[in-house]
Amino acid sequence: MPGRDETRAEQRREGVAVSPGVAIGRAFLVGRDLIKEPRYHVEPDDVEAEVARLHRAIGASDRQLEKIKDKLTASQSESDFHIITAHQLMLKDEHLVDAAVGYITRESINAEWALRRAVDDIRGVFDAIEDAYFRERRSDIDFVGERVLRNLLGRDTGPLRPPPDAVVVAYDLSPADTAQLHKHAVAGLITEAGGKTSHTAIIARAHELPAVVGLEGLTEVVEDDDLLIVDGVGGVVIINPTAPTVAEYRDQQRRQVALEAALLGNRDLPAQTRDGALVHLYANIDGPDEIGAALEHGAVGVGLYRTEYLFMMGDQLPDEDTHYRTAVAALTRMAGRPLTIRTFDLGADKLAGFVENARLDEANPALGLRSTRLCLHDLGRELFRAQLRGLLRASAHGPLRLMFPMISGLDELRAVKAVVEEVKAELRAHRLDFDAQLALGIMIEMPSAAVIADLLAREVDFFSIGTNDLIQYTMAVDRVNELVSYLYEPLHPALLRILRDVARAGRAAGIPVSLCGEMAGDPLVAPVLVGLGLSELSMSAVAIPEVKGVVRASSLAELQVLVERVLTLATAREIRDEVAAHLAGLAPTAGAA
Ligand code: PEP
Ligand code: MG
Repeated sequence: MPGRDETRAEQRREGVAVSPGVAIGRAFLVGRDLIKEPRYHVEPDDVEAEVARLHRAIGASDRQLEKIKDKLTASQSESDFHIITAHQLMLKDEHLVDAAVGYITRESINAEWALRRAVDDIRGVFDAIEDAYFRERRSDIDFVGERVLRNLLGRDTGPLRPPPDAVVVAYDLSPADTAQLHKHAVAGLITEAGGKTSHTAIIARAHELPAVVGLEGLTEVVEDDDLLIVDGVGGVVIINPTAPTVAEYRDQQRRQVALEAALLGNRDLPAQTRDGALVHLYANIDGPDEIGAALEHGAVGVGLYRTEYLFMMGDQLPDEDTHYRTAVAALTRMAGRPLTIRTFDLGADKLAGFVENARLDEANPALGLRSTRLCLHDLGRELFRAQLRGLLRASAHGPLRLMFPMISGLDELRAVKAVVEEVKAELRAHRLDFDAQLALGIMIEMPSAAVIADLLAREVDFFSIGTNDLIQYTMAVDRVNELVSYLYEPLHPALLRILRDVARAGRAAGIPVSLCGEMAGDPLVAPVLVGLGLSELSMSAVAIPEVKGVVRASSLAELQVLVERVLTLATAREIRDEVAAHLAGLAPTAGAA
């Protein structure tokens, strides 16, 4: 074949990096070429039978998708499940079904042709939308149409069966296909279609499969069994790489795998200092589907479940049942580990439709009607009560802790606790179960609360210091303003003194003090927090292995001495240097990475 030798030479293609990691493997081309549907007219007497045939094919498609969902393992991400469910909904959508039935009955055409026309109509609507996310949804309707068409024609709809360690190459992959490819089945994925929000991207990330998409013309240059390198960080695909290129990427792959393994190697080890002090490393999450990853990274509990997302997604505000079901789902996944749920913390940088619609027109939203203030205001009171009812009922199903954000002082705390008592009384009246011993805690994220921590500590079961806001309010630095971000300094001596005092107040009252701001996940800052006497740190899951490594390499006694010393220093820079020098002198321990 002319030019074949040339095309067999190493070639690099650039696309969009959507899922990190390096994959090296042989190409497995997914043909699945679009089927050309037969087109013919049917006799008026056969129209009904043709409609029935269409309904049967839709039913079969629905059952196949249901089966694929059944096979998804617990470790697989919820995104697969939701995307396939969305396809099932499309199968039943009137725009598809009624339109196709309409074409059959009005124009006496066969089911395949009618279906193609209905799919094309919907596609046209998506084509006209500017938004990239919605344009990518075009492929969803294509996949749904294709499946029904295959069923109408009795063609293969079975799963893809690539050999292990293959790199799957496709124009595009249906979610149903992608969901069945996971880390252990294939090495990587590359497609011509798609962008960062395409389902291939979402699912590849959830399955930790290196992936590059948006590689135009790819399926024309790659042949089955070609050796491929997928660089999911650089967004590069190398076709038929030379031996030195393979060696270079193998090296990169080895380094990445070693780093990941070293970090995750301590997953089942306790976060215990060399002199035996146990630090509880918890995860911050936004929903139950993040719990799997949290546990995989070694979290022993959830220290902050931010419930705001329930209010920000979808067009309906969450009701009692939604709160109940979501919390029970989270407790089930936590399997007996503690789960700290924070009541909604909306307003300022976390906006929900109902707050925006109220047009509060505040000059300083960060200092305005937000968070617990909103819960106690007419605008949010009923939503708050519904959340409390749902969460209290869920507390019967596992170790739930309830946490209130942005508490400024005792009046506010007592007002919130009074609502909790009212809700408990309602539940009792309706003979609904809840945990009568349910732990109630507050976030310390304002200087006013920190200063009277001793008074607050008498009336709650735990504290969690929210330093993201505490730094903002202590230093008068807007946490989302780049212009002043240089002043946003977790190791500022003022903040360390506040943390010391809050930890002390908690200890004196015999209640646990956690810290759940971003600084908990910084391996240079976490040892200072441990030295200050905080026994619970809650952070994003990916930060846990490294923080655990530092904890395991440290001694609490030494950290206490270090903290005494840094508390005498005048600036954050001096404190940072002192801590860095201490950490540099630590000998790594087994599993300390
Ligand atoms: C905080 O303020 O530190 C915190 C954890 O809460 P959020 O970031 O959700 O405001
Ligand atoms: Mg906060």
